[in-house]
Amino acid sequence: MIKTLKFGGTSVGSAANMRRVAEIIVSEGARLTVLSAMSGTTDALVKISAAIRTGDSDTVHATIGMLRDKYSTCIEELLTANRTAALDRMEDALATVANEALTYRGELSDKWILAQGELLTSAIFCLHMQEAGHRAVLLSSPEFMHTDPEGKPDTAKLNRELTRLVAEGDPGVYYIAQGFICTDAEGHLSNLGRGGSDYSAALMGVAIGSDEVQIWTDIDGMHNNDPRVVDRTFPIRRMSFDEAAELAYFGAKILHPATIQPCKEAGISVRLKNSMEPQAEGTLISDAEENAMDFHAIAAKDGITVVRIASARMLMAYGFLRKVFEVFEKYRTPVDMITTSEVEVSLTIDSTCRLDDIIRELSPFGSVEVDRDNTIVCIVGCIGYQHVGLAARIFDGVKEVPIKMISYGANHRSMAILVATEHKKQTLQALNDHLFPA
Ligand code: ASP
Ligand code: MG
Repeated sequence: MIKTLKFGGTSVGSAANMRRVAEIIVSEGARLTVLSAMSGTTDALVKISAAIRTGDSDTVHATIGMLRDKYSTCIEELLTANRTAALDRMEDALATVANEALTYRGELSDKWILAQGELLTSAIFCLHMQEAGHRAVLLSSPEFMHTDPEGKPDTAKLNRELTRLVAEGDPGVYYIAQGFICTDAEGHLSNLGRGGSDYSAALMGVAIGSDEVQIWTDIDGMHNNDPRVVDRTFPIRRMSFDEAAELAYFGAKILHPATIQPCKEAGISVRLKNSMEPQAEGTLISDAEENAMDFHAIAAKDGITVVRIASARMLMAYGFLRKVFEVFEKYRTPVDMITTSEVEVSLTIDSTCRLDDIIRELSPFGSVEVDRDNTIVCIVGCIGYQHVGLAARIFDGVKEVPIKMISYGANHRSMAILVATEHKKQTLQALNDHLFPA
């Protein structure tokens, strides 16, 4: 069985954790391993690049110092023969960043800076595998993960290159690659967006013809509700690709939403596992039939803005929605939820960077209202219309909560409701207690 394993930032967040990851890789017989940066690294690098732009050298130096402590502690605890080489490599990367802060010649892109986390972490980890006596080879993901001008990965190239490097490579070797990072259409070091390592692993797993892609994090699988917000959640053992995609999209932080599609298309199951507790079963996402239980899980997505357009011109008109959506298309802003009445349309977006342009272009259509700080709560399960009474159970659960929008009927797997973010916790807990009674 060919396996691709991906480990998130916490899983490789310290020397002790890296040791545990090496053991997991060996016991699973992973063909390819995809790594994130040590936890906290990417956030720190984002902070550094922002501080470089604003000339805030105190922040740059303090944050570089924090990273130096973190990485040198890890290297010193983990490596022996390669310790000095690894420390030098770390110093090189940090010095390059510090130098950019000093001169600010605009020579380093933010994306170059961000990529250093995955590059350093994977280099240290691969040296550890070798020192532990395993045949490990470090790959350079930007050499085979390329994106087009839209940021979409070139899977044909990826498949070709990884087939050559890994699938037709030495079966006795553990291949180690970086998640997240890639080369963009202009040939510069870039990335697939925050949390993108899962997506990297899915694409690479498909490219080498894996039978399974495993995403290792610090939680024992996908839970029925957000365990950070709600008391009494439980891991879901099995779920379908579609359910997992829906939950990931609507806020289940455990998985990057783009991960599922490539695996679904290739028929490769995805297993979510906990590196702190490798014996725990985790969650298996596959083509398997959805089980019959009514409600399976709840997820929440914050940072949602409602745009409401009211226009008497919509009355009995056709083509109105197209004009509205064209504005969002023009400003490349995805729309999540939509509800309409005869003279109004409300829709939600999570990216507001082009909102001013959008409002300006919508204004000729009618009055435009914006409502920020909302949360989409998505209830996923086997909730087709024929199961009479399920909607009533959901609404009974949230009877104390003011609900702003409702979306149901696009599929038989989910219902989404929109609430003000200040009511999120209350909504999630109430639904948890009501739909998943102990
Ligand atoms: N290190 C990157 C991030 O924190 C990518 C990832 O971990 O998936 O966003
Ligand atoms: Mg992640």
